[in-house]
Amino acid sequence: MGEKKKRISALDMPDVPAGQLPEHMEIQRTRVVAKSDAPIHTEGVQYCGAYMSMGVDNSLQLDTFCSDFRVEVKRLTEDEIEFDMVGIDASLANAFRRILIAEVPTMAVEKVLVVNNTSVIADEILAHRLGLIPLKADPRLFEYLSENDAPNERNTIVYRLDVSCGKDSPRITVKSDQLKWLPNGSGLLRGTQSYTSFSCSQESLPEFSENPPKLMHDDITIAKIGPGQAIELEAHAVKGIGKVHAKWSPVATAWYRMLPEIVLLREIEGESAEELKKKCPVNVFDVEDIGNGRKKAVVKNPRACTLCRECIYGASEDHVEVRRVKDHFIFTVESSGALPPEVLFTEAVKILEEKCDRVISELS
Ligand code: SF4
Repeated sequence: MGEKKKRISALDMPDVPAGQLPEHMEIQRTRVVAKSDAPIHTEGVQYCGAYMSMGVDNSLQLDTFCSDFRVEVKRLTEDEIEFDMVGIDASLANAFRRILIAEVPTMAVEKVLVVNNTSVIADEILAHRLGLIPLKADPRLFEYLSENDAPNERNTIVYRLDVSCGKDSPRITVKSDQLKWLPNGSGLLRGTQSYTSFSCSQESLPEFSENPPKLMHDDITIAKIGPGQAIELEAHAVKGIGKVHAKWSPVATAWYRMLPEIVLLREIEGESAEELKKKCPVNVFDVEDIGNGRKKAVVKNPRACTLCRECIYGASEDHVEVRRVKDHFIFTVESSGALPPEVLFTEAVKILEEKCDRVISELS
């Protein structure tokens, strides 16, 4: 380690086949390179004529995009999905992330009618806590409740909470499973009228009889009440989006990172190989026996790289290059429970599609 980089004169460089970029320019176009101080080549090269003088067309072709674009699911659990999205620009990957966080709708408690609250928690704090409880209700089965609409069986879910602690009882913890679904709507009256206008029971609707609205978790603490205290209220959940309030966001998190690519710029053998292996905290490197008692470093698990840059500090920068592939995104979506994570992503795709249709129709 520590030898100087060999410089090659431009006149001695090998000819590049027509229609291709020289290697260093191809890296600049397609990779972000992490240097020990800061990353370089971070911007995307969008201009179609950027390499025209070299006979390379940099325009985005729809048929090439369609043939190259792919999505591969790497991990899928009940509430989390990790998939690779390949052949797409960072702006589109980010559009999906933002739509997932802020524009895919869910159901959440929006209105709380407090009949009685003698607990130490103020009404507004209680209402806020109820709003943040994730509901397992498919938002696609509901309509938005606009200002002029009456709450009905198609746009509102009503829950009732009625708990009290006896005068001589120990303090009790009120949990989310004590919220009871009222399929016939509100049981409270404003004058002679109910707060909701349900024309039928939600239980009688085929979409809910199979799939009744539930709470995602039964053990979320809502409040603690002491002897003689009571809470009686109704919580009305409606459809909304995370852009209005984070309680409607369907994801606990949605994030992506570019695919790591670790390149050994030269053979690293012996002690140096062992040193390199030890430097990486997530075991990206391994040491292979190459016979005659010799060992060399190899890249074993580049996907695990966290970009900590430990392996390129100091003299190692000439031996190892840490890159990111600009059009390959590792996406992770963690659902808060209303919809399975794979459905959330397809919903985000539909929303982006609708936006594109709107732009096209406006333009035409
Ligand atoms: S940047 Fe960090 S995580 Fe990535 S290979 Fe180097 S040492 Fe390992």
